Amino acid sequence: MRPLIAGNWKMHGLAPQLGEIETIAASVKTTPPLADILICPPATLVARAVQTAAGRIAIGGQDCHTEIAGAFTGDVSAEMLKDAGASAVIVGHSERRQYYGETNAIVAAKTKAAWRAGLLAIICIGETESQRLDGKALSVCGDQIAGSVPEGITVSAAAIAYEPLWAIGTGRTPTSEEIAEVHAYIRHCLSARLGAEGNTVRIVYGGSVKPSNARGILALPEVGGALVGGASLKAADFEAIFRAVPVPT
Ligand code: PEP
Repeated sequence: MRPLIAGNWKMHGLAPQLGEIETIAASVKTTPPLADILICPPATLVARAVQTAAGRIAIGGQDCHTEIAGAFTGDVSAEMLKDAGASAVIVGHSERRQYYGETNAIVAAKTKAAWRAGLLAIICIGETESQRLDGKALSVCGDQIAGSVPEGITVSAAAIAYEPLWAIGTGRTPTSEEIAEVHAYIRHCLSARLGAEGNTVRIVYGGSVKPSNARGILALPEVGGALVGGASLKAADFEAIFRAVPVPT
């Protein structure tokens, strides 16, 4: 499976920001990347981003509701994202879990909603700093996989994003050994549950990935790409990250 390099713009981006997508799409046209490239702009920009990307990179949503439609003011369904041209959606981002009280069960339901609409679900998991200091990073991630990843996961339908909360937007990253350890454990959990399919589901790392550390992180075993926040807002930085994907051996 090709690595996945996904950008999460969070609540950033007005129409002029589409120029960043235009730049990336042009670069990808000239020099095809070694990874699948995805940008998840705010919902207001999804349809225009799809037009701008012109099929050269994928566009996704940052969250979706569990239902197809209904009286849920302010929410966006997976079907609406699909209708706008999205091909993926992030679910269970730590900011959703933290600020909106999303539980593993809700994240699993959102994942199923993504699959119902035919979207790739990027399911986020990761420990807090105190959980890591207490030696619970692996067990927290294991519990989140057990609770957030529904039965029926396939390589083409989902990717897991390991995002330690203390590394998101802080400029801090785990050591290479720590990233490799958690990714190996996630792989173990997926394989134990899914057999051969579990060996191929992409596990991407997220948390302060930037041009200066991308090459080292993307070369680690079981790291199948990156979920990038702040550094995805500028085409030059995001491109430097996806150009750091190692050549397959
Ligand atoms: C994120 O929000 O998913 C993220 C990884 O952010 P940053 O790259 O800015 O740490």
